[in-house]
Amino acid sequence: MVASTTAGFRQLSQLGEFGLIRRFSRMTPKAVGAPLGIGDDTAAVVPSGKNHLMLLTCDPVIEGVHFDSSAAPFQIGWKAMARNLSDIAAMGGKPLYALVAASLPRKITTAQALEIYRGIMAATRKFGVAVVGGDTARSPHGIHVTVTVVGEVARSEIVARSGARVGDGLCVTGTLGASIRGKHLRFQPRMTEARFLARRFRPSAMIDVSDGLASDLRRLSEQSRVGFEVWAGALPISSDLRAQKLSKAREIHHALCDGEDYELLFTIAPGRLSRLQTIWKKRFRLRLTQIGVVRPRVFGIRLIESAGSRKILPFPSAGHDHFG
Ligand code: ADP
Ligand code: MG
Repeated sequence: MVASTTAGFRQLSQLGEFGLIRRFSRMTPKAVGAPLGIGDDTAAVVPSGKNHLMLLTCDPVIEGVHFDSSAAPFQIGWKAMARNLSDIAAMGGKPLYALVAASLPRKITTAQALEIYRGIMAATRKFGVAVVGGDTARSPHGIHVTVTVVGEVARSEIVARSGARVGDGLCVTGTLGASIRGKHLRFQPRMTEARFLARRFRPSAMIDVSDGLASDLRRLSEQSRVGFEVWAGALPISSDLRAQKLSKAREIHHALCDGEDYELLFTIAPGRLSRLQTIWKKRFRLRLTQIGVVRPRVFGIRLIESAGSRKILPFPSAGHDHFG
């Protein structure tokens, strides 16, 4: 079997599992807290101190579910890593290590496999996480890449989904909707912004918007046992969604229901809101928008035109559901 010569158009079946792992691990710099590097039976890492909690998460990207055949291999890798980093961000944490389980069809080329890995590595470099191991297997149908990320957060800085309090402001970063037009493959996990929020402003609850604001807000509502008043007119609409020139009602529906925005949705004590807005503007170019307030649970989730308005608009029942 041909091992590590360069011809990129060669099929994976010729490079073989060991050849591919060798190529992957050559692309992976050795991590400071992982003295053995890649190649042993497991990764071995130095644990975080007692004042920290470890954060562990895994999310796959699956061909036909999270991307289609038009996605560039680099973007598949980027997305596989970035959506896990987005989960670490949503806890207020910092990513440390990652494992990459790649199941690849025999028929893809070595160049395509390495491009997926390059996408993974681009995200790890940008967000300071180290790939310390993984698994490589053949997939009978399509590309699957499951990344596991281990991170940490100071006990005093962790932001759960369960802490929203009545009266808190409800805020979202960036813009919403139509990520299927491209953003879902190249989004930036809001790591710096989330760390800043957790350290300086202690949001009461936070979640990353992965399944669409409507369903992620429902999760916050259930886990915090609160209701929400959402201001339709305040929703930050993405330029890709605006470009579709839909009616205002359809536009709002998409902003609430389209999945994979990977923005941060959080609640924060009302007394901290204006200072947050001021400091945020100096620090980030990314938008930060208050889109509503936390209400008692019996209020439910209601969409109204704007703050103070009496007109209640229909709130969509759900965003994305894999089995829906
Ligand atoms: P095992 O049979 O013990 O699981 P493997 O042969 O699967 O060992 O893997 C050998 C080494 O290569 C392990 O350290 C593993 O973590 C690493 N590895 C395998 N696949 C990948 C990958 N896709 N990315 C990074 N490291 C990998
Ligand atoms: Mg293995």
